[in-house]
Amino acid sequence: MLFILVISLQLHAQDHKTKNVVIVTLDGFRWQELFRGADSSLLNSKYTGSKAEMKKRFWAETAEERRKKLLPFFWSTIVNDGQLYGNRDLGNCDEVANKYHFSYPGYNEIFTGFPDERMNTNNPVPNPNMNVLEYLNRQRGFENKVAVFASWEVFPAILNVERSGLKVNAGYTDLTDNKDNDRLKYLNEMQHNAPHYLGDTRIDFMTYEFGKEYLKEYKPRVMYLAFDETDDMAHAGNYKTYLTQAHQEDAYLQELWQFIQADPFYKDKTTLIVTCDHGRGDMSIDAWRSHGVGVKNSEQTWVAVIGPDTPHDGIITTATTTYHKQLAQSIAKLLGFNFKANSGHETADAIETMMAAEKRSLGK
Ligand SMILES: [Zn+2]
Repeated sequence: MLFILVISLQLHAQDHKTKNVVIVTLDGFRWQELFRGADSSLLNSKYTGSKAEMKKRFWAETAEERRKKLLPFFWSTIVNDGQLYGNRDLGNCDEVANKYHFSYPGYNEIFTGFPDERMNTNNPVPNPNMNVLEYLNRQRGFENKVAVFASWEVFPAILNVERSGLKVNAGYTDLTDNKDNDRLKYLNEMQHNAPHYLGDTRIDFMTYEFGKEYLKEYKPRVMYLAFDETDDMAHAGNYKTYLTQAHQEDAYLQELWQFIQADPFYKDKTTLIVTCDHGRGDMSIDAWRSHGVGVKNSEQTWVAVIGPDTPHDGIITTATTTYHKQLAQSIAKLLGFNFKANSGHETADAIETMMAAEKRSLGK
């Protein structure tokens, strides 16, 4: 009897409003542009084509005006109704705990909650660690209700689809499970004729369209959209496209959030988490192009969150550091689960400030 009481208290203690989670990553997008907007030295450098047009679109005198021009969804909706971590100009830090500062280690850390030193390559090595998406996919009510759409073709290995059985649609692969939905069938057809200027990495536009249609048709409880182009454009030294792609992805997020908040299945029951896999350099005019062990400050990242359990704090200004290894348990905890206790490996604690104080329903 006492045992049953303890269990029921624990269940109530994790009673959040969040029933669904959508996670979106912008590969290698810097906190510097998120919080400061377009960088004036880069806008005036060889890295920016069409300077007059770009200044017209994204330049303004203050950081507040610039960031709003670049990312209007972040700087209207998320800043008013959610939280933004990682504004180092105000003393708040967000970073990756892994020491490599590139993609596979970054995504491994986010989804397994553990900066495993063995995950130190971008090669498609099957990940030995259980990830939070796979854990959720095994929970009652979540079976086959977890879906991943990724531009980067390495995600099936990062999330170990062979073991996890997760639905991961990555690179230019067709979505076989399309319920005869004409739009999904058309996307399968169209993606092969779309420009393939990133090789096997799918353009983000196609990844987004698949994710959006899948959300409407299948109503997944957990969806992850992994975009890539911000990183590719930075490596290419193309600040114009780095900025315009970030601006485009902000518009995707806005459309996605509007759909979520208009759909009865998702409205006021869904948390959106937006983040990145690593930062980039900032010590010289050229440093923004790269990241990794030898690139100072490329561990510096950001996280944005909005949803029914997240306090409306806007920019977090506390002198604290959050780590991406905390996101796996945060995602699980928002949904009322304990990944850390079940992952079978080291897992960091949740970011408690992302969710309102737990409801204590003693005696009810
Ligand atoms: Zn990169």
